[in-house]
Amino acid sequence: MNDSLPSVVTSQTYPVLRLKPHEDRRVGAGHLWIFSNEIDTKQTRMADLPPGGFVSVQSDRGKFLGFAYCNPHSLIAARIISRHAAFAPGPSLIVHRLRVALALRERFYAAPYYRLVHGESDELPGLVVDRFGDTLVVQIGALGMEVQKEAIVAGLEKVIKPKNIVFKNDSGARDLEGLPKYVEAAIGDVPEELEIIEDGATFRAPLATGQKTGWFYDQAANRRSFLGLAKGAGRVLDVFSYVGGWGVQAARAGAEVVCVDSSAPALEAATRNGERNGVTVQTRKGDAFDVLEQLHAEREKFDVVIVDPPAFIKRRKDAPKGEAAYKRINQLAMQLLPRDGLLVSCSCSYHLEPSALIDGIQKAGRHLGRFVQVIANGGQSPDHPTHPAIPETRYLKAFLCRVTHD
Ligand code: SAH
Repeated sequence: MNDSLPSVVTSQTYPVLRLKPHEDRRVGAGHLWIFSNEIDTKQTRMADLPPGGFVSVQSDRGKFLGFAYCNPHSLIAARIISRHAAFAPGPSLIVHRLRVALALRERFYAAPYYRLVHGESDELPGLVVDRFGDTLVVQIGALGMEVQKEAIVAGLEKVIKPKNIVFKNDSGARDLEGLPKYVEAAIGDVPEELEIIEDGATFRAPLATGQKTGWFYDQAANRRSFLGLAKGAGRVLDVFSYVGGWGVQAARAGAEVVCVDSSAPALEAATRNGERNGVTVQTRKGDAFDVLEQLHAEREKFDVVIVDPPAFIKRRKDAPKGEAAYKRINQLAMQLLPRDGLLVSCSCSYHLEPSALIDGIQKAGRHLGRFVQVIANGGQSPDHPTHPAIPETRYLKAFLCRVTHD
């Protein structure tokens, strides 16, 4: 502790992380992150900051701003976990946050299939928990949360009482925090497959080899509303289908469905998911850009084409290339529509503004001489709340467009 700084009255004192003048504005506006260049390193003893441990964050004038966990070696040097001097960080704060997060989901979901914790938006920065009934899949993206693993497991046991708690800590984001990658069970075991119930359909998705936590709950609301609007569609093409989240629901609504993905295991799972729900989905394996060109060469037509790709823009510097890829894939999709068809176009790239996606769709339409009307747009499902002060928490865009000939 630096003796010259006023200390905060709590049962425990934490090392002080002092910000440079004016660098308290973003945190004051509600953001939770502190970047390394915002720290007053003359007044903060960097050597005292415990990697992954808690600190007390203060403005340049010594005003208490919150408790945070820190990672002195990361660009995001600290993330606020509590703004109240009376709410010290630790196991009981985690239990409190989990209870508040659960209350939101229980308000909007009838069954226990949802994202239980969405990181910063649930005031648990760096922590994601997806719930698959009795199985919880946890993803940690920050050193401070990794240090809290035991408290997280204990908190989840207390609040949810699940059978399995699995850490699926294998995302690339962990490199930035200097964290190793692994998949392991903290409670119970690592099930091979997860079961999901969504809108009356039952799905299974691989866990260890699956994408993200195994399922894309963020799209559930869009699947429901867009497919509701597209009811009665004859032929549906589900591009980047993964295990058939969109395609199987379209088939249940009566459509003839083809799923496209580059992953054979994902398509095998999509086929089984169809069977599980008493419908058939056909599959085409390959790079989506190539498959869509082939389908066009074969003069295939689909009344609805769904384009739900992985993030083409992972870092800001990839934006120009990524925007071109979004335009290209939407153009290829549009070519497969009849004279009056529907395009569902999505992007989970935070670095792509909604207007930029629409712009790409419109340019693709102009290129092909098609008239585009935006019928509906969507964002993340309610279990992925966005934090108004943290734009990074708002990443998903989905548009339902009608495409006709000029
Ligand atoms: N639409 C899915 C989620 C898509 S995840 C859902 O709602 O659940 C992205 C999928 O794209 C993954 O299954 C991945 O295997 C696939 N993929 C990634 N790059 C691809 C490419 N170039 N061509 C085809 N599929 C690709």
